[in-house]
Amino acid sequence: MVHPKIKKLYASIPSFECQEGCADCCSSLVPFAKSEWDAIPVKKEANSMQCPYVSEDNKCSIHRVKPYMCRLFGAGKDPLLKCPKGCGPEKPLSWEKAKKLTNKYHALISK
Ligand code: SF4
Ligand code: SF4
Repeated sequence: MVHPKIKKLYASIPSFECQEGCADCCSSLVPFAKSEWDAIPVKKEANSMQCPYVSEDNKCSIHRVKPYMCRLFGAGKDPLLKCPKGCGPEKPLSWEKAKKLTNKYHALISK
């Protein structure tokens, strides 16, 4: 089960629809906290630079339990978080809010 405090951070991230069939930001380098990794029902090894959880139709096959960084990307105003396809929520997170959430996330996973 994902740590409840991490789940609370998820709830602060605005969601949005991705471009149909796009998995451009789904890299095998996306970090998972231990409890996020433990929540994934089937573990897969990465054998390319693409995340092993990208489905055949380029969707996230673990959408319900995808990790914090996947939820954050595209949801903030910071240029580093901007979706290259122009997708994002109506009200993206400010730089300060995204930083605050990410600092909390890092503090939780370093325990
Ligand atoms: S956030 Fe943007 S780049 Fe990433 S999968 Fe969604 S549409 Fe594609
Ligand atoms: S977990 Fe899902 S959203 Fe995150 S990189 Fe993998 S396929 Fe993409």
